[in-house]
Amino acid sequence: MSDIKKIHSFNSLINRLKNITTHPESIEIITTYKTSVGDYPLIKIVLGKGKSLRALISAGIHGDEPGGIESILYYLKNKEYLDYINKWEITLLPCINPYGYEFGTRTNHQGKDLNRLFMVKEPPLEVSFAQSILDTGFNLIIDLHEDDESQGYYLYQNGLGNKYERIGLEILNSLDGIMPINLESEIAGSQAYQGVIGKKLDIPSMDWWPMALYGLSKGTQMCLTLETSSLFDMEIRISAHLTAIKTAFKHFQ
Ligand SMILES: [Zn+2]
Repeated sequence: MSDIKKIHSFNSLINRLKNITTHPESIEIITTYKTSVGDYPLIKIVLGKGKSLRALISAGIHGDEPGGIESILYYLKNKEYLDYINKWEITLLPCINPYGYEFGTRTNHQGKDLNRLFMVKEPPLEVSFAQSILDTGFNLIIDLHEDDESQGYYLYQNGLGNKYERIGLEILNSLDGIMPINLESEIAGSQAYQGVIGKKLDIPSMDWWPMALYGLSKGTQMCLTLETSSLFDMEIRISAHLTAIKTAFKHFQ
């Protein structure tokens, strides 16, 4: 363990969350897991409990992508949810891979890429934690990521039916002036159109599922996996994610 170094403190992250939210009691520790370097709590925050529409916003499943985690902090700090909290119950998972966050690793303490393990029979605890939340049923899932190989923003869009088909393009249009879009026809090995990766997939026949596809298998209407480019400053990455979230909710009304 001596060769790997802590780059963030998960405790400080929890303290920051407690300090910025007006409802610290909404921060719930669902479970805690043990590693050789310490115990980590897995947390959720629920806003607008009991509203008819349900959204999940998650981050940090890849520990080396802090932009999503920071975006959730600013989402709370700026009270970005106020525009739609009268209709939506919003569940936030600010950091699904706390070990990865502390040590700046994509994988968890067992070297596993958690976002590839949503179909396996006995998934790591972080994944079964996320699954237990997804099982409760959502209309909209937004999972925040970063990509250090992309020159601009892009997203994965997976929905049931065609009703929200234009949501991805609308999100990317709304980022005009904030961050450029990755316009390549192939991104991260997938076919893309104007920054949207949205090929219809035969979900049950796939070899593995990321979190979004597990959500889809549970009947979520629209799953968005949003990717900022981490080649930009943190402030710009946060601004892009917050604008994308805002546009997604606007389109979904
Ligand atoms: Zn990622």
